[in-house]
Amino acid sequence: MQPRDLSAHAPYVPGRGTEEVARELGLDPEELTKLSSNENPHGPSPKAVAAIEDAAPTVSVYPKTAHTDLTEALADKWGLDPEQVWVSPGADGSIDYLTRAMLEPGDTILEPSPGFSYYSMSARYHHGDAIQYEVSKADDFEQTADAVLDAYDGERMVYLTTPHNPSGSVLPRTELVELAESVEDHTLLVVDEAYGEFSEEPSAIDLLSEYDNIAVLRTFSKAYGLAGLRVGYTCVPEEWADAYARVNTPFAASEVACRAALAALDDPDHVEKSVESATWAREYLREELDVPTWESAGNFVLAEVGDATAVSEAAQREGVIVRDCGSFGLPECIRISCGTDAQTKRAVEVLNRVV
Ligand code: PMP
Repeated sequence: MQPRDLSAHAPYVPGRGTEEVARELGLDPEELTKLSSNENPHGPSPKAVAAIEDAAPTVSVYPKTAHTDLTEALADKWGLDPEQVWVSPGADGSIDYLTRAMLEPGDTILEPSPGFSYYSMSARYHHGDAIQYEVSKADDFEQTADAVLDAYDGERMVYLTTPHNPSGSVLPRTELVELAESVEDHTLLVVDEAYGEFSEEPSAIDLLSEYDNIAVLRTFSKAYGLAGLRVGYTCVPEEWADAYARVNTPFAASEVACRAALAALDDPDHVEKSVESATWAREYLREELDVPTWESAGNFVLAEVGDATAVSEAAQREGVIVRDCGSFGLPECIRISCGTDAQTKRAVEVLNRVV
């Protein structure tokens, strides 16, 4: 017995984890500094940790599927109707829900290149295809409506990542508005704000009151420090009210995850401190690394190091795990997540030694 032909489905390549690297190098995981997956090095809010402990007894029953306290709180935060907030298992889950809601077999999405790989993976799982617009390194990864529209040919979904992974560049609001006014009626613009908290650009969520062709993705994995719990959400156009129940994987966001996210929302100081720390770290990385880097609005910095595989492997042997951007089509670049002050300093010291 074999599964169907999966050769068109490239596996997702995550940043390397501490346990995997520790095993390979025969090191104690504690000795490693993991700066490969843009997580929050300060962890979640203590309020979220307490909520997780309190929610432990709920795990024997199924979670609610819609209209949770979390949905209400997010709707309140963003000035939306609760029906416009689709809670999902991570932003990855939101990408799947939007794909299910939008794509017919054979439809195509337009996505950034380089870019986050799950957009096209999700499209392909749903028997769709993907084409790319360039976020060009030669133009310092500047994001413009023109670059998107040059490649655009009526695709059903257009992904816009701001801040962009892996470069950290932003799509200015004026460019997004131009896109919202330029694309055909059947096209949904998906604004991925997974790193939105780290950017000074305002969220695009308020544009949902003006444009019915925008959806915005957010996550609790990054600034809120809850990557392991898998909780994210999409803000969708008003008239999509009944679609969520039709595309939602039953019970995919656990009660523990939703309660932790709700508690995390209730601790804006923790997010603010995490953002301040990341802002310091990305400036430090840009100032102190001896290699070219790009301005970033995310909690990471892209650096050009020559042979990214050789450099990331050498850094790893010294206990610092960074992201080799070969899988993004940038084999000369690494992406370094913002760590704690000590982790970031250690990364700079090691990277400057090995490049
Ligand atoms: N969008 C972007 C741009 C990302 O980098 C990531 C995670 N690496 C995600 C979405 C998905 O995040 P999660 O599923 O953890 O919420």
